[in-house]
Amino acid sequence: MPEAFFWEHAQAFLERVERLNLHGLHFQHVELCERRAWMYMHKVNFAQWYSRVQTGSALHDTSYQRDHSVRGLFGLAPDRIEWDECIVYENKGTGGAVEASSNQTAFYALMLSISTGKQWRAYTHVLSSRRRREVVLDAARLQKLWDASGRLEQLGELEAVPVAKKISLCETCSLAAFCGFD
Ligand code: SF4
Repeated sequence: MPEAFFWEHAQAFLERVERLNLHGLHFQHVELCERRAWMYMHKVNFAQWYSRVQTGSALHDTSYQRDHSVRGLFGLAPDRIEWDECIVYENKGTGGAVEASSNQTAFYALMLSISTGKQWRAYTHVLSSRRRREVVLDAARLQKLWDASGRLEQLGELEAVPVAKKISLCETCSLAAFCGFD
């Protein structure tokens, strides 16, 4: 039986998420690269012109359609939910960028914990290895999500695109040409 959920920032977090219309990918992007997060916050998206992303999206759409368990979840988009056990799953193609993908998965568990008042568990399901990795919603993860939401709010208010350094992710980022890191 899941335990009751209590977190001192729950209402403030929910208010911020709703006001800024944040969802899981925001929390992934801000961990990876603040410029990428800024672009996402400001709805600057070059993915449709980037064949690699197009191919990846098509593959995800056809191969890994979301489970029927997640229908009706306004604004949330995890891949599968076990409602009785209070467990949420997010599929990832590979096991890389662990912290960023963990934040995304944890965000779903946190939103479900806040809205149901029960402690949810979260797993990242790595499709390439068919393994699942638990993302523990402990005090450190909650603090990380709280800090990330605050940083996303700051990025949303920032008019100019933030300075960025070349990182390994740039090689596969759809914004590489914009950043001059292609
Ligand atoms: S190309 Fe690199 S610096 Fe630019 S948004 Fe992507 S990850 Fe960030």
